[in-house]
Amino acid sequence: MRNLAILGSTGSIGSSTLDVVKSNPGMFDIQLLAAKSNHPLLLEQIKLFKPNYIYLEDESSFISIKDAIKDIDQSLEVINNEQDLLSLISSNIIDTVVAAVVGIAGLNGVEAALSSGKRVLLANKESYVVAGEYLNKLCKENGGLIIPLDSEHSAIHQCLSRGNQKEKASRIILTGSGGPFLNKKKTDLANVTMEEAINHPIWTMGRKISVDSSTLMNKGLELIEAKWLFESDTNEIEIIIHPEGIVHSLVEFKDNSIIAQLGKPDMKIPIAYGLGFPNRINSNVESLNLSELGPLTFLDPDFDKFPCLGLATEALITGGTAPALLNAANEVAVEAFLNESIKYLDIPRVISEVLEINEIKKVDNISSIKEVDLIARRSADLIIKGLAA
Ligand code: NDP
Repeated sequence: MRNLAILGSTGSIGSSTLDVVKSNPGMFDIQLLAAKSNHPLLLEQIKLFKPNYIYLEDESSFISIKDAIKDIDQSLEVINNEQDLLSLISSNIIDTVVAAVVGIAGLNGVEAALSSGKRVLLANKESYVVAGEYLNKLCKENGGLIIPLDSEHSAIHQCLSRGNQKEKASRIILTGSGGPFLNKKKTDLANVTMEEAINHPIWTMGRKISVDSSTLMNKGLELIEAKWLFESDTNEIEIIIHPEGIVHSLVEFKDNSIIAQLGKPDMKIPIAYGLGFPNRINSNVESLNLSELGPLTFLDPDFDKFPCLGLATEALITGGTAPALLNAANEVAVEAFLNESIKYLDIPRVISEVLEINEIKKVDNISSIKEVDLIARRSADLIIKGLAA
């Protein structure tokens, strides 16, 4: 029985994780469910999964849930102090942490889990993009394990498992669907709306990652994530657009043999892989009917139409604090686009300016990354204010 903490339980990944847990009775004990403010959904999850601890970051939501659970469970402990949350994550009560908070807000939880040698199922790519080298070190020093939940990285992990060691791989090929604007002309992107940007053709996801998928920043973040996860050289990782979303990524080996992982585009598959690893457990996803699939297509990404992909690639090559600047600027710009305070094409503009005006330094420690994150957010806010003026 694994003792699970799900950070971001009310989100898209968190909810899918709970679906997989439900499909595998007796295998997981939910110790902790953590979210920001969605107390109505958290209440439903408490009734179904009976965790021992819950955390809500938002003060008024915390008060509401305390009230609502009075009659349900006296023993349930409700936390809203981050330090208590981090101590719980580090304690022996928990052995597996599903990191599914969106954005850099997830970093402290991932850090606490890896500092205490936990098995971390990593969806929260933003933390890893900004602090991958440091988190890998923590993981190695404390005997932890990182298993990616991103479908592409899960696919690569699966292609590399069972004897296909990393040393024998020569190329990692990350696939991406191309997002909702794959077939739009560059000139038509100026006026796309928030609703169009979050309407992903294949995947159902949270709003932030949906916008990232539309700009291809998601693929850029995944490129950086792949570098840290598989400790690969940048030139060993390629991106290919595969609109059908069936081949989730591929690895080529020294003999030019390529192994791919296929499956329905449903996050419950990589989540089940991560939860069960090294065993296979139920994902409760329909089996793939190959004869009904039709042709599978593969295209080169369009760096000119989607400048975010180039910005992320440059940040990866530059290294140091560049990925932290890129990520923070992107988080702020995407939030502003979701609030309809900037236009779609302002997203790459804001990121590019933040990278231009801020000095890129060597990463000394985690505090320097957190500091750079704050500086980049301030710059991005100022640039956005300037755009609105
Ligand atoms: P959602 O927006 O659907 O969910 C985000 C979750 O994080 C919610 O539970 C939210 O709580 C919680 N949260 C946000 N801020 C805080 C905070 N400060 N403290 C505690 N909890 C917080 O996001 P997704 O599930 O789509 O994505 C989560 C992560 O997984 C992202 O990093 C994304 O890139 C990655 N990912 C997602 C995929 C997907 O298919 N959705 C695929 C691959 C990776 P509340 O609901 O209360 O706001």
